[in-house]
Amino acid sequence: MIRVVTLDPYDDKVMAKFSRTLYTAFGVGSENSGSVELPAGLSEPLDAEKVLEQVKGVRAYKDDKVLFLTSRKLKERQLPSGTAPTHGFARFGKDRAIISTHGHKDLEAGLKAVSRHALHQLGHLWELHHCLDPRCSMYPPWTPSFAAGEASFCTFCREKSEQKIRLAKS
Ligand SMILES: [Zn+2]
Ligand SMILES: [Zn+2]
Repeated sequence: MIRVVTLDPYDDKVMAKFSRTLYTAFGVGSENSGSVELPAGLSEPLDAEKVLEQVKGVRAYKDDKVLFLTSRKLKERQLPSGTAPTHGFARFGKDRAIISTHGHKDLEAGLKAVSRHALHQLGHLWELHHCLDPRCSMYPPWTPSFAAGEASFCTFCREKSEQKIRLAKS
């Protein structure tokens, strides 16, 4: 099950829509699991790794994937070509990821792009690597065309995620 945990206030109806998008993409249950406080001592722009390490009070069971949602800006990432805005971060193959809705008026206005970033980071939790198909959510997220795409996977990535989810359950 995917548990979406918010670090900032969001509209319930839009959150339900967001969860449905995740459910459709992965074929696995997704729910809004409430909100938690941002750990003390962390300030904007947030260090995504530290947030994942330090957030407390999240109840998750084995095989659950936790996706944190924040409206705060995440620290930019250093790339060989310069810095790139960070929309999300995940520990590959682990159980926690974070997505920022910063830069959108609200979750509703940015729903498609935010969902695509969420699919990408959750995909990493299920051990998906980057994909060369520009339509796929596993395409590198720092590319200029990424945010305009649909929140869905190519056939290969979809099948791979289904396989991983089945394996985790057995
Ligand atoms: Zn990635
Ligand atoms: Zn793909």
